[in-house]
Amino acid sequence: MRKPLVVGNWKMNKTAGEAASLCAELKTSLHGATGADAAVCPPFTALAAARNAIAGSQVGLGAQDVFWKAKGAYTGGISCQMLLDLGCRYVIVGHSERRGRFGKPDPEMQGELMSVFGDNDATVNRKALACLESGLFPIVCVGENLDEREKGLTDTIVSSQLAAALQGIPESSAAAVTIAYEPVWAIGTGIACEPDEAGRVCGLIRKCLAAIFSPEAAREMRMLYGGSITPENSLSLMQQPDIDGGLVGGASLQAASFMAIIEAAVKAKETTGG
Ligand code: PEP
Repeated sequence: MRKPLVVGNWKMNKTAGEAASLCAELKTSLHGATGADAAVCPPFTALAAARNAIAGSQVGLGAQDVFWKAKGAYTGGISCQMLLDLGCRYVIVGHSERRGRFGKPDPEMQGELMSVFGDNDATVNRKALACLESGLFPIVCVGENLDEREKGLTDTIVSSQLAAALQGIPESSAAAVTIAYEPVWAIGTGIACEPDEAGRVCGLIRKCLAAIFSPEAAREMRMLYGGSITPENSLSLMQQPDIDGGLVGGASLQAASFMAIIEAAVKAKETTGG
């Protein structure tokens, strides 16, 4: 049975002090063992403060991105080893925003300015491989944008992003990989994917994973849904048989809403039997 996982992607929010306060609240709320794994992914600058504040608790730590090289002349780069050194367990890899694909387009972010968000299938693959080689757990994000959905390309985009991201990963490492299905049009828009449709796409992803690795490996892999998850919609999303938790943006910035989503993940597993 797959244990649910709920991950908070704080994006570019929270100073170190704010991160420490939120983590302290989560630590108090999440005392003792729960039926779900939970983790927060603060900005790089707040990782140390978050690590200190969650020490000794059930809350795990993750980063929002990584560079695949071990060290060297890569100004601004952050390596896997640096993240391990800060206590990270997870890394979000290939988030649509890092690929320059935004749910709510920012009119300023166009043309050459977009090179700052330069991830593509090849970089996502290198980042996932580097995480696994160093002992970090990558959370690989895939998802279609609105235009692709309207053209009926959802399944094609999702399966091709998945195949590219997982290239060269051996079956023995499959269980260390989490997949997040994040329809781009749902991210930060307040419009979540309908549970049946999110469940259908996650079912398709699991079929792809079975073909890439093996049916046995695919059954062990955790799959998250992400895109405007709230305390209100989380239970119905997570009751889908192929959804094992959530990648939560906006609603992870307050302890109460993040905790409610973690509780929904536990309840979903209890009511569906996993
Ligand atoms: C995300 O950042 O991965 C995300 C899903 O954001 P939100 O929950 O705010 O839509």
